[in-house]
Amino acid sequence: MFEYRKGLPDRPERIARLPVDERGYPIPFFVAYVDGAPDFRIVDHPKVVDAALKQKCFICGDKLGQHFFFAMGPRSAILRKTNHGPAHKECIEYSLSACPFILYPNVQRRRAALPDIPLSFDQSMQPARPPIYAVAHVFKHAQINHSPESLVCAWETIDYRFWRDDRWITPAEAESYIAEESERYQADLLKTAKPGDWSQARMDKWLQDSQAEATQKTAQLLAWIAEQKKNH
Ligand SMILES: [Zn+2]
Repeated sequence: MFEYRKGLPDRPERIARLPVDERGYPIPFFVAYVDGAPDFRIVDHPKVVDAALKQKCFICGDKLGQHFFFAMGPRSAILRKTNHGPAHKECIEYSLSACPFILYPNVQRRRAALPDIPLSFDQSMQPARPPIYAVAHVFKHAQINHSPESLVCAWETIDYRFWRDDRWITPAEAESYIAEESERYQADLLKTAKPGDWSQARMDKWLQDSQAEATQKTAQLLAWIAEQKKNH
């Protein structure tokens, strides 16, 4: 209907099949339609959950094969879980190089002004884009948990590539971002562990478990990076 925007990289076939919006950007599968028009600020959560459960790509909507790929910031890379669905390798690569907003870094709760769809994001808010992206290569066995408001995909193995600005970077170049994010996460855990609906004992247990998980997983990722550095 509309012409593809000039200056964008060549589209892989799956992306080429997506409809194009009036600005010339492909409309990803996960984008919600409001009154018949795509609203890039809103993730169609039920559609994304359904696609993940049926092993379909959240960017193009096509069936995935044996290989799942997830794109995420450093914190999710450490914890090996993300609220993005799985995707094709080429769909993620295209998104990183052409339209980083496709990876909706700023997923947040629905806001009053937006229609009643649970997950939304707002490009105008200058979301804190992660300083680097990690792309995880996961064989089919990602664990997929979902609720009406969230989707969490988790995996065990560590097999990452890292992207900064407009290019792939080496694991060695990603190392400091991982270490920094790990510290930030530990600080956030302490901030979160305030008395609230939970008893003190329950909160203490949650904090202890979360800290231990973060420490262990950070060490594992940094060990993997050290291994990569040796081999290159
Ligand atoms: Zn795809």
